[in-house]
Amino acid sequence: MSEGEGLFHSVQVGDSTFTVLTRYQQLRAIGSGAQGIVCSALDSVLGVPVAVKKLSRPFQNQTHAKRAYRELVLLKCVNHKNIIRLLNVFTPQNSLEEFQDLYLVMELMDASLCQVIHMDLDHERMSYLLYQILCGIRHLHSAGIIHRDLKPSNIVVKSDCTLKILDFGLARTACTNFMMTPYVVTRYYRAPEVILGMKYKENVDIWSVGCIMGEMVKGSVIFQGTDHIDQWNKVIEVLGTPPMEFMNRLMETVRNYVMNKPQYPGVSFSQLFPDWAFPAETEQDQLKTSQARDLLSKMLVIDPESRISVEDALDHPYIHMWYDPGEADAPPPQISDKQLEEREHSIEQWKGMTTPAFSQPIASLQSSRSLPSVSP
Ligand code: AMP
Repeated sequence: MSEGEGLFHSVQVGDSTFTVLTRYQQLRAIGSGAQGIVCSALDSVLGVPVAVKKLSRPFQNQTHAKRAYRELVLLKCVNHKNIIRLLNVFTPQNSLEEFQDLYLVMELMDASLCQVIHMDLDHERMSYLLYQILCGIRHLHSAGIIHRDLKPSNIVVKSDCTLKILDFGLARTACTNFMMTPYVVTRYYRAPEVILGMKYKENVDIWSVGCIMGEMVKGSVIFQGTDHIDQWNKVIEVLGTPPMEFMNRLMETVRNYVMNKPQYPGVSFSQLFPDWAFPAETEQDQLKTSQARDLLSKMLVIDPESRISVEDALDHPYIHMWYDPGEADAPPPQISDKQLEEREHSIEQWKGMTTPAFSQPIASLQSSRSLPSVSP
């Protein structure tokens, strides 16, 4: 090993080896996602628990490299209480040539929203969780980042009901209109404009919030399509076939497909979310229930032109009780176009672009052989 011996230790986590700075002790696997495995750990320097995510082979191809780069840049630029905070980033490798593995150290939360979404949440908790998701996405939108991949597994919560959004690998700037690839959004929470390849704007994320809220109320996924195409079937079976005005905005091939589907009248929101599905312990709950259903009916709207905006959702009576300008209107993160690089690069270029995120550029390691990390 290099002069850095002792600075790192290796721990076997399932099938994966975590080679982390020795300050991170007591690693335990807590989750895994498209990008890799996440462990809880103790930061023995600060004496605090942290989450350590190992990006699995981030430079295996250009798509992975680009996602790793984007996630790192965004995590470093964004500073908001409802977006996970990056505490450290390091690689155990000594040179740009050897650079393989990327570890992100983040604040540790207690659970993903998947573990909470089917619990019996009262109106206070439900509205507070939704408020925080809205604050987080509004903050991203203020920097021109539209998430499009919001889903319970990339939202984490603490037992005190605080909430943070994870994952920016798939976020794109608002101005680019990319062809959507199937992995962009897990299909249950995928907005109609994404399923149908239409232009999207900020309220594409409102659809996902509506799906999450609907799932909290109903206790099960509301649009559980078996595949990409079936996802659209599930949406129209429940919400009804959208009007011609919407159809006219589809690409011709998509329009032909969509218009060949049977016509569905849709189900009313009071049938879809009956009173008994909501918490009803106090008289106040009845008012909250009608407000909650009203908000659902404004978020779960197929046509983005008629769907509520993030700002109006934050102003909605069900949510507004939590409104704090410091959280909802925080100054936008400063992210330059250069940092939100959308162009293609070679893997070596992506590696080189990723290293400035380290406090000590990895390129300088070739001479100094010291190890890179960004201290909190
Ligand atoms: P990701 O790879 O970021 O999608 O994370 C995969 C899973 O790991 C999530 O669904 C969470 O269950 C868990 N996880 C990720 N980051 C954290 C964190 N900072 N705190 C607690 N759990 C996390």
